[in-house]
Amino acid sequence: MDLHRTMHAQQAPDVYAGKSCEGIAPRWIGSAEGDKDGPGEVGTDGVISLSARTFPPGTIVEVREPMCPQCGEVPHDAGDLPDGHGGWFTHWKCGCDFDWRKFALDTYL
Ligand SMILES: [Zn+2]
Repeated sequence: MDLHRTMHAQQAPDVYAGKSCEGIAPRWIGSAEGDKDGPGEVGTDGVISLSARTFPPGTIVEVREPMCPQCGEVPHDAGDLPDGHGGWFTHWKCGCDFDWRKFALDTYL
């Protein structure tokens, strides 16, 4: 059976978070078919809920995570580190020294 993509979301951190606007806060940016305003923040407090009642039988929810461009690993949460501005950020770690915080800033700033 063919599938038609109707919704999409990406973990696109807010890189202007916190009082100093220099923090990084995880969030989902998404859109659904027919959105006239384009992609925007979705979910509540960083959590997306999908009720099975809302979707027809056969609907698929797929999660794809980024692979390190250097070592190919999907990074894991290695705990929190201070962000230098009074807050904390998730320290994403893979099999090499790839800087996931820099990646977030380079991609979403
Ligand atoms: Zn790596």
